[in-house]
Amino acid sequence: MYSYLLDKEKLKCCYQCGKCSSGCDINRLDGSFQPHRLLHLIGMGATDKVLKIDSLWKCTTCFTCSERCPQGVKITEILWLTRAFAFKSGCIPELAVIQRDTLLKSGRLMPVDNKKREKAGLPAITEESDVAAQIFKIAEEKEQIL
Ligand code: SF4
Ligand code: SF4
Repeated sequence: MYSYLLDKEKLKCCYQCGKCSSGCDINRLDGSFQPHRLLHLIGMGATDKVLKIDSLWKCTTCFTCSERCPQGVKITEILWLTRAFAFKSGCIPELAVIQRDTLLKSGRLMPVDNKKREKAGLPAITEESDVAAQIFKIAEEKEQIL
């Protein structure tokens, strides 16, 4: 399913110039996150290995890499798809699980620290939103239909 969805022809166009990685803000913060290396592994068919790489989840899907690629490789989409497949396969880092649960419960990725807000002179945030949970439910129902 995963390899079927991947655009293998486009992946073959990658000549490992590294322009995607050199423009990536996450790579600047964490040198171990290198999109071009992930693409190389994906292109080699090392899917099992890629799914277990935690840094895969650091991508912010900013699309800078895709815009910089001279070969038009849709890097962000490939990483996105790989992450979705990792999720389906149960290869999810603990932080991502916490973020998902917090998002479903409150509509936010991270819990609000009202003590810190108070120190910064900001008003407390108490309201929670179930919009994310509703979207998640609809997506789940649609997936069952497809
Ligand atoms: S910028 Fe494009 S061609 Fe260069 S390494 Fe990244 S994906 Fe490959
Ligand atoms: S989409 Fe992801 S991999 Fe690409 S530049 Fe942005 S953070 Fe880096």
